[in-house]
Amino acid sequence: MKSIIAKDLTKTYPKPKKEEAFYAVKNLNFDIHEGEVVAFLGPNGAGKSTTIKMLCGILTPTSGSSEIVGKKSGTKEANLKLGLVFGTRSQLYMHMTIYENLDLISEIYYVTGEEKKKRIQYLTELFQIGHHLKSRARTLSLGERMRCEIVAALIHKPRVLLADEPTIGLDVVAKNKLREVIKSWQIEEKATLLLTSHDLSDVEALCHRCILIDHGQKQYDGTLSGLKGNLAGVRRIQIITADKDKSLMNDVTLIKPIQTGNEYIHKYEMDTQHIPMAETISKLSRHYGESLQDLQIFEVSLEEVLGARFAKREIK
Ligand code: ADP
Ligand code: MG
Repeated sequence: MKSIIAKDLTKTYPKPKKEEAFYAVKNLNFDIHEGEVVAFLGPNGAGKSTTIKMLCGILTPTSGSSEIVGKKSGTKEANLKLGLVFGTRSQLYMHMTIYENLDLISEIYYVTGEEKKKRIQYLTELFQIGHHLKSRARTLSLGERMRCEIVAALIHKPRVLLADEPTIGLDVVAKNKLREVIKSWQIEEKATLLLTSHDLSDVEALCHRCILIDHGQKQYDGTLSGLKGNLAGVRRIQIITADKDKSLMNDVTLIKPIQTGNEYIHKYEMDTQHIPMAETISKLSRHYGESLQDLQIFEVSLEEVLGARFAKREIK
């Protein structure tokens, strides 16, 4: 069963002085299956928010169409299947308590009586917001409020959650907590999540698949490791040696030294797809002997991969 379908989705904005229209999104096609967690990535201005707004019916496409769980975007049937969170826009009434907000939003979505009580209780526990229910929305920190925003978006048990930059502005603790509760919700309800975030650690923590767009067009659709391509098997190794005269290990068949300019810190790169890690580690420890103070191994981050990909991109 497909949860989200985008068919040739296109959105143009008129330009002043009758210049050619500007394509914010151009012929975008993708399908997302039930239960998938997908990141929607791209540099600023790529067309992510415009796409999300078309999927949920806030914007009407110039051409093309989209569906949410088999229902045309923007229809009441689609809206009942859809939860929506924008990190930069609140749907809560700031002067009302969180409970009053959830109560009101439930009624808007025809969730009433015992069902409403149960749903609020269940989400309150899952998202750990029990101690905020009596607080007015305006008194919460951004991290606390975002958890309440997501609860509000899930009150009617949507099958699909579209989340546009949900972690924007959150500190690292609030961000981790938010990811953790989103993950538990997704696993419990086996729902579909489409997430945009400029924070690629969100994406690495939550998603298996990503759709990359730029200039409104799809550039990649597949696994995160596929996006990393050749870099997926590359590991960076950093050594701290106590001996400033220690030479870099120069076994280029095994490991590539990277000059760092710091006599105590030596950096290397290795390709784990072709050389076993154990072999490298034992050679390194033999080379450094007792001068070895610290050894760290890093994967190449998605941040670096996308940074390199978009570095030469023309900025509008
Ligand atoms: P993203 O969310 O990927 O950063 P957006 O979807 O917000 O990008 O924007 C895509 C492009 O469309 C940008 O170049 C933006 O300036 C332009 N755009 C967005 N909304 C409007 C609008 N209402 N009128 C004209 N141009 C717009
Ligand atoms: Mg955006």
